[in-house]
Amino acid sequence: MSDNQEQQPADIRPQLGLRQVINVNGTMTYLGASVVVKKARDAMAALLPQFVEMDDLQRKASAVIAEACGTEAGFITSSAASGITVAVAGAMTGPDFAAIEQLPDTTGLKNEVVVMTGHMVHYGAPIEQGIRLSGAKVIQVGQATFARRYQLDAAITERTACAVYVVSHHAVQYGLMPLDEFSAVCHERGVPVIVDAASEYDLKKFIRDGADIVLYSAQKFLGGPTAGIVAGHHQLIRDAYLQNSGIGRAMKVGKEGIIGAMAALQAWAKRDHLAVANKEMSYLQLWSNALAGRPGISTDTVPDPTGNPLNRLRVKVNPEQARITAWDLADALMRGDKPVSVRDHEVEHGWFFLDPCNLHPGQEHEVAQRLIEELEIALQSPTVIATSLERRRNRKFEALLRWPG
Ligand SMILES: *Cc1c(COP(=O)(O)O)cnc(C)c1O
Repeated sequence: MSDNQEQQPADIRPQLGLRQVINVNGTMTYLGASVVVKKARDAMAALLPQFVEMDDLQRKASAVIAEACGTEAGFITSSAASGITVAVAGAMTGPDFAAIEQLPDTTGLKNEVVVMTGHMVHYGAPIEQGIRLSGAKVIQVGQATFARRYQLDAAITERTACAVYVVSHHAVQYGLMPLDEFSAVCHERGVPVIVDAASEYDLKKFIRDGADIVLYSAQKFLGGPTAGIVAGHHQLIRDAYLQNSGIGRAMKVGKEGIIGAMAALQAWAKRDHLAVANKEMSYLQLWSNALAGRPGISTDTVPDPTGNPLNRLRVKVNPEQARITAWDLADALMRGDKPVSVRDHEVEHGWFFLDPCNLHPGQEHEVAQRLIEELEIALQSPTVIATSLERRRNRKFEALLRWPG
């Protein structure tokens, strides 16, 4: 059974004065990530009133992660982003408690981290900053769309603490080294490889391809609470875990985050992935039927760019015929009490995507209805609705500066 089909508690949002967002965007931090599955919610509720010995709880988490990810060990931290910081810190300090307390001052430690330039992503914050928070310094390898073995070899020195490799739609998808080649070069030089796979469905592939530590977000496809899963080889995992008595303290995860992430991992192993994929495909079909023949609108099905077993519907908008640009349509859908948030990170090309992963039953029809409503309104417009993209980009920062107003 799909977890989104499970009984939901009553919707608390109207009572809080919050809009009832419908998410066809993705597991976005700024929308509250994902639908947390019932098993995770129940596990969190059961543990919240009790005391536990946290190192023991993390020991149990280690076993669950090891089983799910095919690694020797693991632990839960507050986010994948904090996982990057503590994993890099552990590679610098090893099990030296004095060094752990000394960070982010890296005097006397190896403090360089090699990263391919095409992996210097922004996932809501720059990955470089996630690395630098530990005190480490990033050494870029190659150029935006070009990285070869000789460049990585030259970047590694006696100051290199580790390498970071990013698997993500945010990263450049061509011209770079695949993980198995990248890690082979690093391992020849004794450099451990930390893989940021925060949004990737495959829990075992990256370790097989040579990762020493791999990081996942519990709150994304897994449907867990906001937390980071740090999985990998025993000693490196321990060294990253020890950062909880250093810089990791500011990234503390609670007992509810740990038990919730464990439950989400276990629920993932039992999920009927085929049934979920079929349901998602039926949503894409519904939306493409609803949009068929509308002036200026065409759709196609696009597989996930990093190979996650998931498709999205691309909605292409011809502004002359539809009387509206793709971004103005996306903004129009965000108006009202039940805003529909679409996946608009490529909207300057004249399209957005509909992501089927985060819907409650029935919402697929509301999405179709809202699309048709806004397209009908636009068709009545005497001029093409076309606001400035630059203004749109800046609006987000203007709104943040007005916060909390
Ligand atoms: C989401 C994401 C992150 C951040 O994960 P959090 O758990 O939100 O900290 C890091 N890297 C990539 C590639 C991501 O997609």
